[in-house]
Amino acid sequence: MPDIGEKLKILAGAAKYDASCASSGSGSSDGGAAGKGAVTSGAGNSGGFGVKVPAGVCHSWTGDGRCVSLLKVLYSNVCRFDCAYCVNRASAETERTSFTPDELVSLTTEFYRRNYIEGLFLSSGIFADPDIVMEKLTAVAKKLRSESGYNGYIHLKIIPGSGEDKIREAGRWADRLSANIELPTEKSLGALAPQKSGKVIFGAMNEIRQATVETEEDRRHSLKSAPNFAPAGQSTQLIVGASAEDDRTIIGLSGALYKKYDLRRVYYSAYTPVASLPAYPAIGGTAVNSGAVNSANDNGLPGFDGTVWDTSPGISPRRLLVREHRLYQADWLMRFYHFQPDEILNTGQPFLDSAVDPKTAWALQHLDRFPIEIKRAPYEELLRVPGVGARSARRIMEQRRSGSISFDGLRRLGVVLKRARYFITLGGAFLDTAANSNAENNNAAFNSTGLGNAAYTNTMSSAGLRRALDNPKRLRRILADEDDGLQLPLFDF
Ligand code: SF4
Repeated sequence: MPDIGEKLKILAGAAKYDASCASSGSGSSDGGAAGKGAVTSGAGNSGGFGVKVPAGVCHSWTGDGRCVSLLKVLYSNVCRFDCAYCVNRASAETERTSFTPDELVSLTTEFYRRNYIEGLFLSSGIFADPDIVMEKLTAVAKKLRSESGYNGYIHLKIIPGSGEDKIREAGRWADRLSANIELPTEKSLGALAPQKSGKVIFGAMNEIRQATVETEEDRRHSLKSAPNFAPAGQSTQLIVGASAEDDRTIIGLSGALYKKYDLRRVYYSAYTPVASLPAYPAIGGTAVNSGAVNSANDNGLPGFDGTVWDTSPGISPRRLLVREHRLYQADWLMRFYHFQPDEILNTGQPFLDSAVDPKTAWALQHLDRFPIEIKRAPYEELLRVPGVGARSARRIMEQRRSGSISFDGLRRLGVVLKRARYFITLGGAFLDTAANSNAENNNAAFNSTGLGNAAYTNTMSSAGLRRALDNPKRLRRILADEDDGLQLPLFDF
């Protein structure tokens, strides 16, 4: 029988594939398993108390970009279901164990008091009837709140198939709930997770939405004593690359989920091959190769082989990570930049461009809308400019009301001129770096403003910038992310 430290190691490791708390690895000591949810056990210690970075502690980001630490564990990794993509599936040979509610309460409060964590993310394998499993998770949250005086963050996973009353009870004690849709179509669920059903998962999302609306109503009608219900809302996770759906299907589903169930977040998790699916699968036997989509436009571009997402067996994990990253960027466009899913992708363009971020890709397809005049453009148009983030767009609007604006000022407002300069004018003029290049090339003070050559890969006259708008292929090549965008911030682009 494993002790609590051993259980923690097993059940934290088993939880690492769930991305729906947006976790990141926290200083791995295991050679850098890295990626989301990597579990660390502390230098030279098998996990548990007294270690620098306890097992199961991961980082998550709040809506305002604050980084918080969470204890991310499963209640149990015993599971009756046999989802092909999951390390905890019934047929997997793995060490099984379960916590008791008291053990989890003790771990959480102890980690919280030691400032290791600010919250708990708790999920579980389906070791019994879904209602019973849900009751166990809820019991942990209830005990933490009502017996231990714990005020930290709690995220509970909704167990598929649990009843409405169980979901409502969970929401009384948790800050956030999540029902994972996992795969984007019923067909994929049927093939890879046959015991799950989209109808059941959407039913859970709907119940959470209903309970949230009712709670808000009660509280609005001055029933301040009405019990709270999951005040941080609900989220879900989609696995990317375990099934053959294109990005358009995924983004379309996310857009619908945001609208219908008022989700706070959809998390995308690059598929990590497990023993049952060692190769990148293609459901229905059709490997997706969208090379034809872009090759006509981009044939001959350096570093572009005409294949957007290679789905052949043995696909590199990096390619999937890039795809995951682009999906997050597209998701950001829907939530903060007022893009509709069908503006980002359509039947003729079903995959996100791996070379440029989705906003740049959209701009390259709509060059007739550019350049945008910074001194006059409405907020909605500013949001569409590559290199102008939502925050920068707001700051530009404020700056225009209070005073004059310059290219250097734009940089100070957070505009990435290296990208934006092709798409904007100021008082009718492009940013002319070529005019400054000879005199200023080696001028440290000038470069420190971000306007010198150090800030750009090349200098360009205003005439050159104007001409660039006539040549999308060339512009795409110039704006391609050297690192596939993996270093680009998700929030502002
Ligand atoms: S229900 Fe499926 S995804 Fe969840 S733990 Fe069980 S096998 Fe894994």
